Amino acid sequence: MTSPVWHPFTQHGLGEPIPRIARGEGAALYTDEGRRIIDGISSWWVTTHGHCHPRIMGAVAEQTQKLDQVIFAGFTHEPAETVAAGLIEIMPAPLRHVFFSDSGSTSVEVALKMALGYWTNRGEPRHRILVMASSYHGDTVGGMSVGARGVFTASYAPLLFDVESIPFPEAGAEQATLDALEAACAAREKPAAFIVEPLILGAGGMRMYGPDTLREMAGICAANDVLLIVDEVMTGWGRTGTLLACEQADVTPDLMCLSKGLTGGSMPLAVTMATAPIFDAHLSTDKAKMFFHSSSYTANPIACAAAAANLAIWREEPVRERIAGLCDRQEAWRARLAADARFHNVRRTGTIVAAEVAVPDGDYLSAAGPRMAAVFREANVLLRPLGNTVYLMPPYCIDDADLGALHDAVDRAADAAL
Ligand code: PLP
Repeated sequence: MTSPVWHPFTQHGLGEPIPRIARGEGAALYTDEGRRIIDGISSWWVTTHGHCHPRIMGAVAEQTQKLDQVIFAGFTHEPAETVAAGLIEIMPAPLRHVFFSDSGSTSVEVALKMALGYWTNRGEPRHRILVMASSYHGDTVGGMSVGARGVFTASYAPLLFDVESIPFPEAGAEQATLDALEAACAAREKPAAFIVEPLILGAGGMRMYGPDTLREMAGICAANDVLLIVDEVMTGWGRTGTLLACEQADVTPDLMCLSKGLTGGSMPLAVTMATAPIFDAHLSTDKAKMFFHSSSYTANPIACAAAAANLAIWREEPVRERIAGLCDRQEAWRARLAADARFHNVRRTGTIVAAEVAVPDGDYLSAAGPRMAAVFREANVLLRPLGNTVYLMPPYCIDDADLGALHDAVDRAADAAL
């Protein structure tokens, strides 16, 4: 079906209906006609406290009356400074510098450029980037380059740079990953950085691995003087049960990417946080050593006001208790699914539960995906299977009735898929 609006990750040729959303509140979205849709994936993993949280919306409204936008090169403003101070207070202590951008993908681009800039400015240029197989770090050129190559990237191969991939740490075979990382770090041409999604690979199929492996990987990077970039774009802001996934492994990266829940999921904003040595490597009276990156809207004041409100919510509301409650409810569901023969590989990290429907064509283009999607549409739930992998990542405010409705919809979708 032709469409003047070209939607992302949407095959318009399939003619699937595209609901027109007029309003959001808590864990629900409402169409123009008032149909209520339960948001089971937090609108692409961003909505942490629920849609239109009054405190965030209030902060945005207030900021619109003061300052809409100002160039951020050579100028600053109160909302950006508040966000930077708030982040430095709650994020791991060595991450002392905050660089703003607009999306998770750009926060990754920034981290990669900072890593290369760090080595160049120190007079020891390095060019190799290490990645984990099956990862996803965004759809910009750098993000695609460090992500898994496959159906998402096949047409764009000429744009992408080469990276070195270490295997995903399959349960029971983690040592193979550690050995591969050790070998890649110790090679004669030293890598600049290793970029990794902590504890769970999101768009790569909700594949999970344990904190011990993350800690050991971080140890290998540190021992070999290879920068560690942790991409907390999806995992940050409580998704894995803790504020950050890397805190479960007691890991502090050299560079960390945050976005999505940074504004509670209300406005496009991201940050790349860096340690003092990385900032200091760019600090000079020599202009050629500054960090060459911006976008027109870097640190937009309205988006920063939303992030400042999110930080206040984390400080002042029982967010951690809400997350712990959701983890418990999701664990009970995980146990039920694990006992159900229609599902394979049932797993949970924090608030996220994922399972594969036991069909033979288990990949991203699996026919199970569209069959399940049709059931979800009918049930008025927003769930987007990744091939035959179905997962839930709801806002933390979801109540038992809505969570139960999502679980029921997955149950019916499995029947339709098989
Ligand atoms: N990194 C990770 C781990 C992600 O999950 C995503 C998006 O899902 C990105 C980066 C890209 O973020 P964005 O879609 O905001 O560009």
